[in-house]
Amino acid sequence: MESALIVKKADEYSVVCHTRVALDCQENGGWCDSEEEAQEWVEHECWIFSGEGWMCIACNAHFMRNLAQNRRETYGDRPDETPDDDLYEGIDTVR
Ligand SMILES: [Zn+2]
Repeated sequence: MESALIVKKADEYSVVCHTRVALDCQENGGWCDSEEEAQEWVEHECWIFSGEGWMCIACNAHFMRNLAQNRRETYGDRPDETPDDDLYEGIDTVR
């Protein structure tokens, strides 16, 4: 299984955080003997799989903060306007 999301060093594998947006980003997971174990490691640490790659907890927290901010900016000054269903679907798929 070839994947750019996993780095190999001295016969050990580690899953890479593909976003690296948070200042305290972990950048990559624990070093394991196989790609499968490396992936189990990040799953165990509750990293989020975004569809494009794994996102570490720090980056996920960073995105969640941004998401909350965006929601406030969108609806804050127009409280009587109901957000439409499409927007809610968009927010759900970010997870
Ligand atoms: Zn990260």
